[in-house]
Amino acid sequence: MFVPLFRLLQTVFELFFPLLCINCQKEINSRQKILCLYCELELPLTYFHLIHPSPLKRLLFNDLKIDRVFSLYIFEEMALIESLLYQLKYGGNKAIGVFFGQKLAGLISGLACTFDGIIGVPLHPKRQRKRGFNQVDLIGQSAAKALSIPYYGTFLERIKHTPKLSKASRDRTEILQDAFRINPLIRLPKGHYLLLDDILTTGATLKACSKLLVKIDHLSLSIATIVYRN
Ligand SMILES: [Zn+2]
Repeated sequence: MFVPLFRLLQTVFELFFPLLCINCQKEINSRQKILCLYCELELPLTYFHLIHPSPLKRLLFNDLKIDRVFSLYIFEEMALIESLLYQLKYGGNKAIGVFFGQKLAGLISGLACTFDGIIGVPLHPKRQRKRGFNQVDLIGQSAAKALSIPYYGTFLERIKHTPKLSKASRDRTEILQDAFRINPLIRLPKGHYLLLDDILTTGATLKACSKLLVKIDHLSLSIATIVYRN
């Protein structure tokens, strides 16, 4: 009874306050969430998840025991994907995080493997206080909800506040060494976990986190990001 009533109220609400695509401002329905179908098709999928082992694993994580590495979209400058990331991180448009999480979950449900939980890459508490939220948490919670698995946003802790690192910096890996630690108060059950970040660029951040996680005996690891920026 409750669901049909909710749908009816939603339809009436949308009649007076139509939802608009955040990119082209055309009217959309609530199932399309934030983008119309045409704008969503503009987002450049990587299809890396279809290649196993993926090119990203060979390129960036070959020295670590990691199962899969995949990103949803390829980064393009001055394009919709850049604008979405910017609006999520700096404009506080949390609906974009939810949207990314749902897209990620859709991709994961088509894989031949399953995950027992998602582990988010944390921000340093100082940066999180300034931003008010961690965008990775929004994406991870949304994906985990859609997949009915737990999300662990505090299993990894960022203990070193690093300045904004340049992409080319060779010191990146060195600076990020010891930047994270495992929260001693949380114990993960045995299983296959997905380490999640918003962007994969040099892989230094994900490598620093993975190095800690692969040391845990009863845990196997894969990596996913929303965007790959080469
Ligand atoms: Zn649109």
